[in-house]
Amino acid sequence: MKQYRLVFLAFILLFTACKKDQFAEDFPEEDQWEDTGDETEDEEGALTLYRVDEDQIDRIKDYPVSQELKSFQQDYAKHFKMWEFVTRLIPLAERDKIAEFEVFHGNGDLLGYVLPIDDNDLGRWRFALAIDAAEELEVINFKDLFTYVTIHEYGHVLSLNDEQVSISSEHSCNNYFTGEGCSRQNSYINRLFELGWKDIHKELTEDNADVIYEKYKDRFVTDYAATNPGEDFAEVFSFFVTQEKAPTGQSLADQKIRLLYEFPELVALREEIRGNGITLSLRAGSWQENPLYKKFRLNHRKSCKHHH
Ligand SMILES: [Zn+2]
Repeated sequence: MKQYRLVFLAFILLFTACKKDQFAEDFPEEDQWEDTGDETEDEEGALTLYRVDEDQIDRIKDYPVSQELKSFQQDYAKHFKMWEFVTRLIPLAERDKIAEFEVFHGNGDLLGYVLPIDDNDLGRWRFALAIDAAEELEVINFKDLFTYVTIHEYGHVLSLNDEQVSISSEHSCNNYFTGEGCSRQNSYINRLFELGWKDIHKELTEDNADVIYEKYKDRFVTDYAATNPGEDFAEVFSFFVTQEKAPTGQSLADQKIRLLYEFPELVALREEIRGNGITLSLRAGSWQENPLYKKFRLNHRKSCKHHH
């Protein structure tokens, strides 16, 4: 199971998808968890989980939380405002892959994350946003960080769902393997991969995104985009939506943004999203001026695998 998180530093984080309690009985040993670092941090900050039914959300459960987080958990009015923000920004017809909504406290680290609810079904996703990143919920302004975070996380669902990626093994995959499955040939993420990753992908490891970025700067819209093709798509999609015009430069970063203009349904979606907010003062990457952006770092998606 993987998560795509927007962390505050750069931008995206992964909270953890690994639900420790879920497997605790079957797998009592810690060493079944791979790449999770501190397992106890997995659900730290998780507040409330909701089931999504079109524009409505229904509470599934409150997570056990520390005393300091109680007030955030009990601020259901804000949870609903956060969800309402999502519904105003992203058209209903384009949200059908989002089956759960989670509110968590990012503690200045994590902005948002997504993960498939079931590893074997890429048609149903959990969409999680940090309550402490939700500063402005009344007005949708494309300069705001929370708007950016929502678009970024949505970009993951858009590019990793079952219409774009099919469950299969890496071994049998001739296109970009997302971690959950094999991307289809003409999928957004595989096209992005063909354009800007195929020749350098082997150089990427779990923790050398900064090296990749420094070496191939002109390929990336942000440093966080160099994390992996999944994060790159989410960042490129965010620029595609929030920039007023298609870029005209020759850099691979610009070419990646222009690639999305080749998909008519994405152009239509872009127009729809932009019609929902204030775009007049928009400038590419202006959310980077938000102090939160500098404070937080985008995290990397993590794998949570358990071994029998
Ligand atoms: Zn992300």
